[in-house]
Amino acid sequence: MTGDGTVTGGGDGTVTRGGGDGGAAPGDFTHLLARRTSWGRSDAIDRILSAANAPGVLSMAGGIPAPDSFPVARLAEVTDRILSRSAAALQYASTAGVPAMREAVARRAGETGAPVGPERAMVTGGSQQGLDLVARTLLDEGDLVALDDPSYLGAVQSFRGAGARLLPLPTDRDGMRTDVLAERLAAGARPKLVYVVPHFHNPTGGVLTEERRRDLAALADRYGFLIVEDDPYGDLAFDGERLPSTDVHGDRVIRLMSLSKTLCPGFRVAGLTAPAGLIGELVAAKQSSDLQTNTFGQHVLAELLGDPAFLPAHLARLRTLYGDKARATAALLRERLPWLAFDDPRGGLFFWCAVDDPRVTSDLLYEHALAQGLALVPGAPFCIEQDGSRLLRLSFATLDEEQRREGVSRLATAFDKARADAY
Ligand code: PMP
Repeated sequence: MTGDGTVTGGGDGTVTRGGGDGGAAPGDFTHLLARRTSWGRSDAIDRILSAANAPGVLSMAGGIPAPDSFPVARLAEVTDRILSRSAAALQYASTAGVPAMREAVARRAGETGAPVGPERAMVTGGSQQGLDLVARTLLDEGDLVALDDPSYLGAVQSFRGAGARLLPLPTDRDGMRTDVLAERLAAGARPKLVYVVPHFHNPTGGVLTEERRRDLAALADRYGFLIVEDDPYGDLAFDGERLPSTDVHGDRVIRLMSLSKTLCPGFRVAGLTAPAGLIGELVAAKQSSDLQTNTFGQHVLAELLGDPAFLPAHLARLRTLYGDKARATAALLRERLPWLAFDDPRGGLFFWCAVDDPRVTSDLLYEHALAQGLALVPGAPFCIEQDGSRLLRLSFATLDEEQRREGVSRLATAFDKARADAY
């Protein structure tokens, strides 16, 4: 950490790069790697997810949607139709996206925020690519990015990978503490970007209130930063309610609109909208990265999104599916694991929990849970400055009823063993 309270880009796992070959061992190319390759590096999530995929392990770790949430029958029907219509869906397409998909992104943006024309919309290879494009286009080494602490690790990696310094801000059930952001700005902090996940934040589950959205937009106008609003979970509110995007309060907003949790992640097709003066830069950055997002997936999803009856019915089904899973899991956790503190999720895929026992850290619990055949994600990798040692994230999305019972029972055993270890 630096004197001004920001966190430098190097972060964990920094390796010294550059210089001559210094007699490197055969097969060791470390001296040839660009310095930036070490900046955002973290293998924490990779490690955890590969453990979760081991045979016999029940996983509450990944932020992945339930396979039975995918609209498989509709996708099969649309796929056949598109392939029999013409070969255009297998051809190269423009970097900004297939026109029908750009229109679908702009339409969806308008339904959930301020009206946007397709010229301000583009298609990205998932919102993760959107984050990378934003970081590469806007951040120079040493630039400041303000964000919730904890935050989504993929965003932290993109910002750090561009050499940014991070300004971690406290966050609660109502999202980022914009009052603290205002204090930091008044004290001289000058972030170029402020990153928020406005609905069912990953990992905290917080929802940025209307008032804080308004505050954020006013601060962006006053201090000249851009808001990066990353919203994969907004359509997964169990009560069906979602707040309009921050862009209804101001025009300094880049919106990342993932479709991974609401349609499926496998096509790697997401939407992005940006102010008119930025979209061309983002498209140029994408061109040098991958030329375009896969044409076929764009045609398929544009066709689905173009059916006015499809999305409302599909989202209603998902909200029931995940709402039921969340309530059933919460009841079971409360019954079997009295030492686990959490708020009931209002949407999204996760419980953000604290271990209410001073002797049991989430790392210790993670090790014991894995030994029992249950994967979870300890909180520390999401935390920037905050102490994550007793926090953990549990997904309720993918396990069925029987697996859920078994998973919670394994977690109960893991906790007993972790506590016995700690004494
Ligand atoms: N942002 C957040 C907050 C996420 O949780 C995720 C996925 N877990 C992403 C972005 C990446 O989504 P996509 O699959 O669209 O790349």
